Amino acid sequence: MTKEESVQLMTDKMAKFVGYIGIKLPDDVIAKLSELREKETSPLARTIYDTMFKNQEQAVALNRPSCQDTGVLQFWVKCGVNFPLMGELEALLKEAVVKATFATPLRHNSVETFDEYNTKRNVGKGTPTVFWDIVPNDDHCEIYAYMAGGGCTLPGKAMVLMPGAGYEGVTQFVMDQMTSYGLNACPPLLVGVGVATSVETAALLSKKALMRPLGSHNPNERAAQMEKLLEDGINAIGLGPQGMSGNYSVMGVHIENTARHPSTIGVAVNVGCWSHRRGHVIFDKDLNATVTTHSGVDLNG
Ligand code: SF4
Repeated sequence: MTKEESVQLMTDKMAKFVGYIGIKLPDDVIAKLSELREKETSPLARTIYDTMFKNQEQAVALNRPSCQDTGVLQFWVKCGVNFPLMGELEALLKEAVVKATFATPLRHNSVETFDEYNTKRNVGKGTPTVFWDIVPNDDHCEIYAYMAGGGCTLPGKAMVLMPGAGYEGVTQFVMDQMTSYGLNACPPLLVGVGVATSVETAALLSKKALMRPLGSHNPNERAAQMEKLLEDGINAIGLGPQGMSGNYSVMGVHIENTARHPSTIGVAVNVGCWSHRRGHVIFDKDLNATVTTHSGVDLNG
């Protein structure tokens, strides 16, 4: 296969994948929504969950996106230095988004800032955004594709706390944000929290936390305990599905952290909504694709 043919092949596979995640939610999200539906006691909350499942059925049956806001595409890439298309990756992901925009179709969500026009192709200056992790001595490429909708992006916030604020300060920051802006996304939410030194490190971690599988925990025991406490606290607000009240506000709370400067605590929140459209695919060096988040999807056929 020539380089051009390889680029075309991976572009086509990623376009198909992007379109697919706009239609069908990942397996772990469906399982969590089913679990929460069973745990809710009010007829209204249960009916809203049933409507969500109906939405999923219809989206697949009609082959169209399950939410009208198909977001801005973000890609979290973990790429081995020996992956053959590393240098072409950013350009081909952009092309894949354009293809998916017309083929799926996706809503036109890329407005050029300061020039104020919609590109109508879902790409523009810096969009889709690609975040890189480079892996030495490896020839695979893992990609998380995420649709950042407007509603689920709105509760995002980052700041640097005074050192004396401590973990109580982190908790207050998260709870203030959830009680004021949480409802801008459609609950139940997945809440990502980043704890680091500065706003940019915390912000990136808080979004990366949303790529983790539901039910996973921070490997640090105390951080995992804080995930649980925050989950209980946000559930106690009683947002329920679509904010119409219920026993559960969240699908989970994920904390990602780094070591930090002793004088600062950078903290950030990012939120995923019930329609948490993220997909994970691994390409080997021959461009065979393995999807890990959605059962029954074959991008190689
Ligand atoms: S918050 Fe999520 S489900 Fe609600 S409109 Fe936005 S993308 Fe759709």
